[in-house]
Amino acid sequence: MSLDSIVTADVLILGAGNAGLRAAIAAAENGANTVIVSKSPFPGGSSVVAGGLIEASFGEDDSEELHFRDTVKGGAYLCNQPLTQILVNEIKSRIFDLESYGVAFLRESPSKFKLVSSGGTCVARDLTSGRNDVVQRCLYDKARSLGVTIYSEMMPLKIFQDQRGAPLGVAAYDVQRGDTFFFQAGAVVMASGGLAGLYKRRATPRNTAGDGFGLALDLGVRLVDMEFVQFIPLSFVYGFIEGMTLGEGDSYGDKVRLRNALGERYMERYAPERLEHSTRDVVARANYLEIQAGRGTPNGAILIDATESDPMKAYFQPHHMAHRYRLIVDFYGKEKADLKEPLEAAPSALYICGGIEINERCESNIPGLFACGEVAGNVHGANRLGGNSLADVQVFGKRAGEHAALFSRDASMKFPDRREMEREFLRLKGLLDGNGRVSPRSIKKDLQQLMWDHMGIVRSGALLTEGLKKLENLKDRLSHMGAIGSARRYNLGLLEAVELPSMVSLAEAMLRSALLREESRG
Ligand SMILES: Cc1cc2nc3c(=O)[nH]c(=O)nc-3n(C[C@H](O)[C@H](O)[C@H](O)COP(=O)(O)OP(=O)(O)OC[C@H]3O[C@@H](n4cnc5c(N)ncnc54)[C@H](O)[C@@H]3O)c2cc1C
Repeated sequence: MSLDSIVTADVLILGAGNAGLRAAIAAAENGANTVIVSKSPFPGGSSVVAGGLIEASFGEDDSEELHFRDTVKGGAYLCNQPLTQILVNEIKSRIFDLESYGVAFLRESPSKFKLVSSGGTCVARDLTSGRNDVVQRCLYDKARSLGVTIYSEMMPLKIFQDQRGAPLGVAAYDVQRGDTFFFQAGAVVMASGGLAGLYKRRATPRNTAGDGFGLALDLGVRLVDMEFVQFIPLSFVYGFIEGMTLGEGDSYGDKVRLRNALGERYMERYAPERLEHSTRDVVARANYLEIQAGRGTPNGAILIDATESDPMKAYFQPHHMAHRYRLIVDFYGKEKADLKEPLEAAPSALYICGGIEINERCESNIPGLFACGEVAGNVHGANRLGGNSLADVQVFGKRAGEHAALFSRDASMKFPDRREMEREFLRLKGLLDGNGRVSPRSIKKDLQQLMWDHMGIVRSGALLTEGLKKLENLKDRLSHMGAIGSARRYNLGLLEAVELPSMVSLAEAMLRSALLREESRG
């Protein structure tokens, strides 16, 4: 296997979610020849499925100061405050950018946005345009209109560096054609999203394996706050939609009861006053503990019992959320969808608050390597407010694109050592030739279970240390891994084999970060 194609760009962006697309728009507007490489078929990871709430202080009773205060308090005082200040100051202008790209935010009148409340905000502050795939589509169209080229289903293998450590470009593998590429670049922006795919249950799409963090770690990038993972309390436990959110206690009316397999209303033990209506972190923790203690159903779930609730007041009824009601009917049956019988649910991983440490120009500690969106850290501290991620991707996406474009003007484009690159493609060939050895799928499943059990919602020093030991065993198995089948095109096993070493390095970084954090925050 050798190099098939070379593509040259001033700015190369890894990831085509909201953050990557917003960075691309800014880079192109600053005169940079801009290329996006995304490993997924359709651009976007979590951005495509997100609820679409964006925090911006447009309310009459609101201010940037209140937005700042809520964010810092919500983040358990661990936010990088200069970055938080930028977020709250600039998001309103970014909302107007989005409107100019065609996003129609809901309004109460021509001069007044419709604002809704989400957890942790002292006033209603969240704008919405319905679902966030609309925002994604408008960003995509805008980026394309500026001449940004997007390579989707293109799997990065390695970021090459010069002697100073600055990125020279990225070797990648085209999943559709089986060809190999080198993307030479003056600056690289990491916008590869989150890492919920490291967990057995995730509320995010498949392409959130977190391998982008691993690519950056290989360069010696500094990560922050990697122990702060957000989980949602209730999600599907079946089929391809396992992990997809099933809302929160309030979604099922005031008479909802969460029960374990013994029929106990266990929230009485964890939160005797607010019970099922407690905040999502409290309910997620209780659900997790019940399941881990063996009091869950055989599917590893608890039961949402809303049989006493008025079904017309519950959130998942057709008149509230038709598409999700339909999914519940498909997977659980009509009786459960109509809440006449209890339905199974479990917590799932949603969002990483930490990530690549950035400054106000979105620079990492590696010159020429920028980061924005969920892969970047230190904006939200220990806990992110509901609509602050979709705000963050707009604000820091723009900044990352602008500063990467500026950096690329003085960057000297060099080609990495040919032999080093050939080694990367030989590694790929080795994985293809390794058919029949340890399967990547089995290692991935064990890694996801390990993260669920040892780096889940409730942790202890002993659990984390044991997790690190188990990880050593997984590392051994990595060296015997081979993709299933020798097909060069559309080989999912090969993709997983490429992702896994990065996922394992990332898992280790998270376990070690969590060991350092001895108090409970966020
Ligand atoms: C169900 C759900 C609901 C949510 N609702 C809200 C909400 O209402 N408000 C809010 O503020 N936040 C919400 N969030 C969080 C928010 O959606 C995400 O944090 C945000 O969309 C992340 O955007 P991003 O561009 O950084 O990453 P993503 O949108 O995840 O995009 C990542 C991109 O990188 C690509 N990629 C991944 N790995 C690689 C790699 N190694 N190389 C190249 N490309 C790679 C992916 O294919 C994808 O194109 C929600 C999340 C979920 C899952």
